[in-house]
Amino acid sequence: MAMTKSEKIWMNGQFVPWDDAKVHVLSHVLHYGSSVFEGIRCYATKQGPAIFRLGEHIERLAYSSKIYRMKVPFSSEQIERACLDTVAVNGLQECYIRPLVYRGYAHVGVNPVGTPIDVMVAAYPWGKYLGDDALTKGVSVKIGTWARMAPNTLPAMAKAGGNYLNSQLLKLEAVEDGYAEAIALDTNGYISEGSGENLFVVMKGELVTPPMHNSILAGITRDTVLRLARELGYSVREMVMPRELLYVADEVFFTGTAVEVTPVTAVDRLPVGNGEVGPVTRAIQNAFFGIVKGEVPDRHGWLTRVPRSVAASAKA
Ligand code: PMP
Repeated sequence: MAMTKSEKIWMNGQFVPWDDAKVHVLSHVLHYGSSVFEGIRCYATKQGPAIFRLGEHIERLAYSSKIYRMKVPFSSEQIERACLDTVAVNGLQECYIRPLVYRGYAHVGVNPVGTPIDVMVAAYPWGKYLGDDALTKGVSVKIGTWARMAPNTLPAMAKAGGNYLNSQLLKLEAVEDGYAEAIALDTNGYISEGSGENLFVVMKGELVTPPMHNSILAGITRDTVLRLARELGYSVREMVMPRELLYVADEVFFTGTAVEVTPVTAVDRLPVGNGEVGPVTRAIQNAFFGIVKGEVPDRHGWLTRVPRSVAASAKA
């Protein structure tokens, strides 16, 4: 499936045509996975396009960069601006935004010192990650045979390119075996997360999700759902969970920028609950989509409106 192109990509402060946004084959990132990135959604609202939790995404990008000792030559404010400008310059209403910070072209020594830190931001139309029916009907998943990285191997808090080799193994295995997605366990055998999404379990009316020390990425949608669930009056807990809890749970759902709030209706071919999308998952979906689509007041200040035109300084 090819991606839908937009017109321009922001590269190191300049807009370049989509087809010209290239890197040298000896760029460090290509050889050793030395990149950190974000995935952000912009939603069409009645007030125009709005980016969901932009500040938190760019803050996480800064944390990821710091963990890998990458000195980003742009401030977080400038990268936020670049995201807004990239949506505006491409005339997009609803899109996915991909900022990437990477070690560029200088040498391919494993010691990354001396490589330039390059930054790009692309924005392009993107549909539903797990298919059009996933949000309404739910998905069937398996427990992957690959574990998430142990905490003293690759830092899970960093959203780094290299981490997604593990995600690819999980995803390839799931799809080859006929599932939409795989859930990974951590190296102790406890539930961690999906290949690109966090996981929630509903058990007797309570929501539970694995804590940071189960090798998860601290998802921004996860944080959103934790807050919305509390506001809806649910009891919410972070809890270390054994695999078999998924087999006896009332409801299970994924959260993430790509999957938004996607019900999981079967795990390892066992139905979750009665195999239908459950009421708690639906309530969380309604609260989430109400906010991101601007249908209810943005009481948390989570939406950043995209200006109609690009700041003069960003025009190339
Ligand atoms: N875990 C992994 C491994 C991911 O790639 C993602 C997607 N960024 C998430 C969780 C969900 O994070 P977020 O809600 O911030 O998109």
